[in-house]
Amino acid sequence: MNPYLLSPSIIASDFTRLAEEIHACESSAADWLHMDIMDGHFVPTITIGPLFVQACKRASKLPLDVHLMISEPEKYIEEFAKAGASNITVHVETCPDLPKVINKIHSLGCKAGITLNPSTPASALDSALPLADLVLVMSVNPGYSGQAFMPEMIAKVEEIRNKLNALRSHAHIEVDGGINAETLPLMKKAGANVFVTGNAAFKHLKGTAEGVRVLKEIASSPVS
Ligand code: ZN
Repeated sequence: MNPYLLSPSIIASDFTRLAEEIHACESSAADWLHMDIMDGHFVPTITIGPLFVQACKRASKLPLDVHLMISEPEKYIEEFAKAGASNITVHVETCPDLPKVINKIHSLGCKAGITLNPSTPASALDSALPLADLVLVMSVNPGYSGQAFMPEMIAKVEEIRNKLNALRSHAHIEVDGGINAETLPLMKKAGANVFVTGNAAFKHLKGTAEGVRVLKEIASSPVS
């Protein structure tokens, strides 16, 4: 059984207080730090790059969970590995040969994640599923922080969990997009065990430490 993990998405943090925000995540037992890398090409927005990942690495001991929403990710994987990524997740829509990209990620000493947009069927991952350490299910269309959760993605998580069970794979299922106190339990019940959270953690009325603490408690509690 996989542990339940919380991976706060650093792009929702206050960059003017980055080290404080990271320490608030650590003090409330966040497990990973999620990095949403966007290139203005595969998705319309530009966010952060390897230099930012490197800065987070200097500020934190938490594993850095790097999600590449970029075209031709294989060109940049090495740079992100050197910057300190623990997990590198790539989109199937950007990788014609997904197994090859996974092997490259592994060769750099990182865990390999695969992901897909909400409109891409789970079957697109089939060839790479046995090799992946992590499958990320996008529960919003990628490109912006703060979007509404798509409930149709609950069934997709169930479908992927069944496929992984059939392969006897212990890969994590991570969910990303609109995850908060209401949607997290739905995704957990469906079979997800890693929860990316943005505004629900960093824009909590009582501050980031409390936002992370509340979500971590929900993530860790037994499935109802
Ligand atoms: Zn992400």
